Amino acid sequence: QAGPSSSRPWLDLYAAGVPHELEQEHVTMLDLVDATVAATPDAPAIRYFDGTLSFGELDARAGALASALVEDGFAPGDRLALYLQNNPAFLIGLLAAWKAGGSAVAINPMNKQRELTYLLSDSGAGVLLCLDELYEDVAREVVAGAGEVVVRSVITCSALDEQTRDDARVLTAPRRPAPEGAVDLARLLEDHAGRTAEAPRPDAGDVAVLTYTSGTTGVPKGAMNTHANLAFNAQTYRDWMGLGADDAVLGVAPLFHITGLVAHVALTLLTGAPLVLAHRFEPGVVLDAVREHRPRFTIGSITVFIALSQHPDATREDWASFRCLYSGGAPIAPAVTDQLEERTGLYVHNIYGLTETSSPSHAVPLGVRAPVDPDSGALSVGVPVPSTVVRILGEDGEELPPGEVGEIATSGPQVVPGYWNKPEATAESLPGGELRTGDVGFMDERGWFYIVDRKKDMINAAGYKVWPREVEDVLYGHPAVREAAVVGVPDAYRGESVKAFVSLKPGVEVTAEEVVAFCKERMAAYKYPRTVELVAELPKTTTGKILRRELRDREG
Ligand code: AMP
Repeated sequence: QAGPSSSRPWLDLYAAGVPHELEQEHVTMLDLVDATVAATPDAPAIRYFDGTLSFGELDARAGALASALVEDGFAPGDRLALYLQNNPAFLIGLLAAWKAGGSAVAINPMNKQRELTYLLSDSGAGVLLCLDELYEDVAREVVAGAGEVVVRSVITCSALDEQTRDDARVLTAPRRPAPEGAVDLARLLEDHAGRTAEAPRPDAGDVAVLTYTSGTTGVPKGAMNTHANLAFNAQTYRDWMGLGADDAVLGVAPLFHITGLVAHVALTLLTGAPLVLAHRFEPGVVLDAVREHRPRFTIGSITVFIALSQHPDATREDWASFRCLYSGGAPIAPAVTDQLEERTGLYVHNIYGLTETSSPSHAVPLGVRAPVDPDSGALSVGVPVPSTVVRILGEDGEELPPGEVGEIATSGPQVVPGYWNKPEATAESLPGGELRTGDVGFMDERGWFYIVDRKKDMINAAGYKVWPREVEDVLYGHPAVREAAVVGVPDAYRGESVKAFVSLKPGVEVTAEEVVAFCKERMAAYKYPRTVELVAELPKTTTGKILRRELRDREG
């Protein structure tokens, strides 16, 4: 563990009542769930269209699924993969994995076969819970395929949407037969109703969820978010934003991503507040949920708030129930917070963290306006949250004084102990337990932090992280492609978008549109290059290495 920095000037910026240190870091998420279920079994845990699931019902369904999992051979330490849109089944699966003595693997439902194959084999998940349609379209072939995937059982459930909203007393009865090769979740729950698993309870230091991220290097790795990590940052949100059981949370962030997992799921399990789930991010759908359930808190990427506030039906009144908005995952232009405030009446607080810090390491204190750095124009990402130490490191790993730009390095109870089965990557990114974030920034004299650049090649498209190498790998699979280089280019709406420069093999003909379509078919929607530029040659160093940065600078 890195020792405390000589000074932590940011502590003076904390809002009144927010403690500098948080204590309860050694509980498990199951302890938190049990306490909430015991205190308020009938309080709404999930609101989804017209349906409500109480904490007691959620707990009972999770128990039933856990019992089914154990009966099926799920052993302590096993992994249940969750491959779902925001859906109550996500929470049922997550809790069931813990009750059955194991952990969950959170998978982006946008992932296609190549990506899913990698994630399932890397995590070694033995059971997959997914939507019927994702099973039919993507997962069936992956599970049946040869290779390293070891999934032995598949459980499917239906996507609930506008058409099925009357059915949203969710997962009470099987509605249609499960696809061949899978078991229907609702049927399992019915068959195991009233039962729960006999399994060892997790320890606070055990992995609760593997969340995949490419960290600083570009190879997807399972960050091991422990129970203590999640419980700690759930508490950070509660105390930082002063949230309680009456503060319904709007769940617009994807639950498979660490922000949704912590700021939606773990937070509401801790406070006992309802989680208002929007099944997908479509401004109209989310606005309906807001009008129906009047949430008090949410967090999302800035593009989500822009899209919501610009919806033709949205009025200022729609925002009246919110106490505050937080936005993270990508840089925010100061002018955008002003525009949003004009439309919504709410100041958007910046919040910063990584998958490896189990969501926030920094946040703007509630009710405080973040300063803007006059030189770079960057809006501050806030100050470190309680019990967290952040240092700025120079090229040789030396700690830099306020005002100097270097790599942000973070340690605290929310930082993961490492990556799943990747000791080398763990040693590289988390030396001594301190996370080297790959984000480049500085701290001012008062303790405000600013991000001004990235050491990593990552492209940040509206909070979705894209790695050039992964996209280039797909491009090289195209028979006409000789060389490819992928960069992020400025995009007014997404912040950055993905662009590929491609040179072709001699004598072949293919259009840029065909190359785009080739990629679109093979990777998640946020990753494929929106534009492909065909070039005769890519810029290279004298040793033949493609100069990605030169292409990026040319576009910027
Ligand atoms: P993820 O692991 O997907 O949560 O992505 C973490 C990365 O998102 C960080 O390393 C930053 O590059 C970026 N990021 C997160 N929050 C912010 C923010 N508030 N401002 C700028 N970049 C951010």
